[in-house]
Order: sequence, then structure tokens, then C-alpha cells
Amino acid sequence: MLNFFKVRINHGSQAIKDIKKATVNDMHRGFPVVDEAFCLEKCEDCINCCPTGAISKSPLSLDIGKCVFCGECERLCKNKAIQFTNYHKISTTDRQNLIINKKLSYDDFNNNSIKIRKDIIKIFKRSLKIRQVSCGGCNACEMELNACSNVNFDMGRFGIDIVASPRHSDCILITGPITENMADALEDTYQCSPNPKIVILAGSCAISGGMFAKSNAINREFLAKYKIDLYIPGCPVHPLTVINGILGLLGR
Ligand code: SF4
Ligand code: SF4
Repeated sequence: MLNFFKVRINHGSQAIKDIKKATVNDMHRGFPVVDEAFCLEKCEDCINCCPTGAISKSPLSLDIGKCVFCGECERLCKNKAIQFTNYHKISTTDRQNLIINKKLSYDDFNNNSIKIRKDIIKIFKRSLKIRQVSCGGCNACEMELNACSNVNFDMGRFGIDIVASPRHSDCILITGPITENMADALEDTYQCSPNPKIVILAGSCAISGGMFAKSNAINREFLAKYKIDLYIPGCPVHPLTVINGILGLLGR
């Protein structure tokens, strides 16, 4: 028995100790700084190169709900009107917040991105069981969601778990653009999960259709029917974006 404890102590803790203060690698593309004042030539190279139509002009804006974080616009803009930071806490409760259209600091975004809702905090603050529905994406968002529960990120320590059945869930978390073939399954999953429940969209595909937005094979009627409680941008989503976003929604 003593040996068992020794081994356990030697292992130490592999989980990130303070998930809120954890940072990500400099190479990670997260929150973009968009500053129209630097857009001197009005060349529109950024708009023309964007594969998802995430950039608009007048005013220059970048929709991180559509962006797949390829970095091409940043690379093409000689004047640095668009620059990605590695800031990863980019989840929000309001879709409009994802349209970055002025020089916004990281802190400005963070302070206003999540609106606390007392009804959610009252019921789910200490425990949230998630049924994840993969609706036709590339599987990268799903892999990152798996990583949320590994020993490094250890989302389970906050009482947030992914469960196998919608009957046991408090939350439907959608990844992928919602293909026609998954539309009924998503609706069934929603109906099978007990009330009250919350709905989360994770990844550019789920939020806007992403690279597949113009495809005839998607059916996004579900999103018009039900309230979305949290948007988690990314392509794919980063585990720290997911966990911090959900903790924010739960008022923690
Ligand atoms: S980084 Fe985003 S906004 Fe820029 S070109 Fe790529 S998809 Fe478009
Ligand atoms: S958002 Fe990006 S990573 Fe996630 S499923 Fe869609 S294409 Fe894949």
C-alpha cells in the first residue's frame, strides 16, 4: 500500500494547474486585432483570399465565427491591418461579438464576451454533462474535444463531462456544419435530452458552416429553432478555448 502511494506521489499531477491562466504556443492563431487605420491601400487582398468570406469592408471586419484561421489574410496584408494573437479565450454567448470590426484589445473582448445567465448558473454551475453531436465536420474538432478530458486538460475536475447518452445530458454540443444526413439525428438527440438544457456550437463549421457553408448537403434549420447559449470559435477549437468558454458560461 505504501509503495502504491509512493508511485502516485512520484507521478505528480499532470493536469494544467490553473486552466484560466494557461497560455498557448505563440504559433497558435486566436483573437485577431483588426485595425482599419492600417488599411491604407484598400487592395482587398484579404477579402479576396479568404476561403470562407470571413472578411468584410467598410468597416474592415473579421468574423471569427466564419474564419478557419488559415492566416492567409495576415500574410498578404503588408500593412498589418489584420494580425492574429495567440489569445485563446474567444468564446462568447453573443454571435455578434465574433465580428471583430475595430481595434479591440484582448481584454475588451474578454470582459464583454460572456453574459452571465442566472438560470444556467443556478442549475449547472457545479455539474454539466455534455452530449456531443458530430454533424459532419472533419473530425478535428472532435479530437480536440476528446483532449479536453485527457490528463493534461482534465475538464472532468470541474464537473464537466462528455456522456454517451442524450438521456444523461444537460447540454447538446454541436460540431460540424450539420449535414442533411445528420439533421434528423441532431433533432432526435435534442428531443431525447431532458429539459432544461443548453446548446453549444463548437468550431467554425458549427457556427457558420465554415468551409461548407455553401454546400447543398447541409441543413442548418435546427439553429433557427433553438437558442444557442455559447459559441466556441476555432478550426479546430482549442481545448483551453472550450474549457474556459464553458466555465465562463457556468459563472466560474
Ligand atoms: S485567417 Fe480567417 S479571415 Fe483570414 S483568410 Fe483565413 S479564413 Fe479568412
Ligand atoms: S471547424 Fe474546422 S476543424 Fe472543426 S470540424 Fe470544421 S473544418 Fe474541421
